[in-house]
Amino acid sequence: MDYVNQKTIVDKILTVDEIKERKWTFNYLSSLTNYVHTAASLGLIRNTSFCNQCGKFRTLYKASKRIDGFLWRCSSCRSSLSIRKDSFIEKSHLTIKKILIIIFYWSLELPQTVIRKEIDDADTHTVVEWSNFIREICEEDLANHPIMLGGIDEETNQPKEVEIDDLYFFESKYNRGRVKNGVWIFGAVERGSNLCNVTRIDSRDRDTLFRIINSWILPGTRILSDGWAAYHGLDQFDIKKMRKGEKTTFNTHMIEFMWRKREKGEVFPRIIKCIREQYVFL
Ligand SMILES: [Zn+2]
Repeated sequence: MDYVNQKTIVDKILTVDEIKERKWTFNYLSSLTNYVHTAASLGLIRNTSFCNQCGKFRTLYKASKRIDGFLWRCSSCRSSLSIRKDSFIEKSHLTIKKILIIIFYWSLELPQTVIRKEIDDADTHTVVEWSNFIREICEEDLANHPIMLGGIDEETNQPKEVEIDDLYFFESKYNRGRVKNGVWIFGAVERGSNLCNVTRIDSRDRDTLFRIINSWILPGTRILSDGWAAYHGLDQFDIKKMRKGEKTTFNTHMIEFMWRKREKGEVFPRIIKCIREQYVFL
């Protein structure tokens, strides 16, 4: 397929269900012949490019110097656009094939050292950065879909236990072209089920945190905070039972772990779904 004069890359973008139905294996992924086509059909790169200046769709042009071999170009004003524009791979120097394979290996929980060897990339940071990036996708997915935690266990009639904590970490975000910056993450994990919520917070003041706790955690829950609540002045609210617990298990690796556990089904189509939800093309 040479895409000459096409205004779309694929005729149809796959639905999430169609992506889940496909058998995703390493052999299948590495046997594909056209990764631009694959990325567009997965909804990971834009399938059309509209030129606002001329009010018409751009056409696909061959561009041998571009990593993907193609470029969007307006036939009237000649303005061009990278086929990666606004996508999660916009800033990456890797081929789409390598990126998909890194994500696939990540979904299988292969160690980073093994992934690095398999994709044959000399840059030691590449796989680390991609792992961090995918973890951020997981974190944002959890933040976008909070669930109610805690309450009373119907079988034992005892309060369920929920751990709360916040943590500060430096995000990579190099893929999104943002300035490297640190963020506060607030999280809650239900003991036993490992159901969890996380969200980014701009402020760690009592009102903010209390509002989040109220929107996430059912009445009657035993909240475990390891002294953290007192630090934030939250123990003054006695509508919930706070108890100093053991060391909290909440950290950035837990975010990935909890994301993996929250839903059943194969991880690769799930993370693809999250990426396309978080990178929408206008
Ligand atoms: Zn134009």
